Order: sequence, then structure tokens, then C-alpha cells
Amino acid sequence: MNASCDCGAVSFKTPTPKPLALYICYCHTCQKQAGSAFGTSAIFPRFPLPDAELLSCYKRPTSSGQTLYCYFCKQCGTRLIHAIPGKNVLSVKGGCIEGLDWTTAIHIWTKSAMVPIPEGSETYSEGPSHTEYSSDSQESFDQPTDGLAG
Ligand SMILES: [Zn+2]
Ligand SMILES: [Zn+2]
Repeated sequence: MNASCDCGAVSFKTPTPKPLALYICYCHTCQKQAGSAFGTSAIFPRFPLPDAELLSCYKRPTSSGQTLYCYFCKQCGTRLIHAIPGKNVLSVKGGCIEGLDWTTAIHIWTKSAMVPIPEGSETYSEGPSHTEYSSDSQESFDQPTDGLAG
């Protein structure tokens, strides 16, 4: 799938034609990070980052003691990719991807949602606890409270 930032300086292709999982997260961290009502996160097998010269990186600790690397376009500031060193998957911000099928999205941290959740969606009041990509376990890639799944 093609992905790009708002200004178009950074563009890249995802390694698979659809994400392994897609999350829409209503936690407060994601709301702040996105400057919006929710954050979105499409999980893909890890792939080489776009040209590092075009990206800036904001790093912050996760609740499980790891470091989350948040990559954004130097020019327009669009947040593009979240990654944790050593993990075999990473998260691409869903809004940057063309042609994403939003109907498959899993809605998490719905207890702090301020917009209606689409009917029939898979939802979790807090973070999902039994998926491979997002759970409370130390082994997981995602800690939704940290905004990775958002
Ligand atoms: Zn840009
Ligand atoms: Zn979140």
C-alpha cells in the first residue's frame, strides 16, 4: 500500500497489501498525539524506514520499559511510523495510507471515546488483551495506553 505524509516529501510502500491489524484508539495519549478525537495504527511486518534524512524522531518510554520511536516528516510534521527496536512489526499511522479498509478496524479505549463507534465493530473498553499485536503483556508490540496502537 502507498503511504505518504501531508506534504508528500516522505512516501513509502508497506511490505504487505494490507495490515496485520488496524486499530483506532481513543486513549488520551492518542488524542493528544493526533490532535484529534482518536489515533489510528496499522500494524505491518517490520520494513526499512523511509529516508532518515527526511524524518525526525520523537522518543519516549513505554509502560513496559521500552523506548517507542515516533517518526514524523521533518517538513510538515505528519506522524508516520511508530516502532520499538527489536520488534518484528511496526505501526504506520492509518491516515497516511491510501486505500485502507477501515471497516476491519478494532476500536480500543472506547471508554474515552468522544465520537460514536461504528456498529458491529470489534471494541475494547481499554486495550485489547488477547491479540498478538496489542495487549497488556510484556511480550506485546503494543501498549495502547502509550499510543503505539494509535
Ligand atoms: Zn511531509
Ligand atoms: Zn491510544
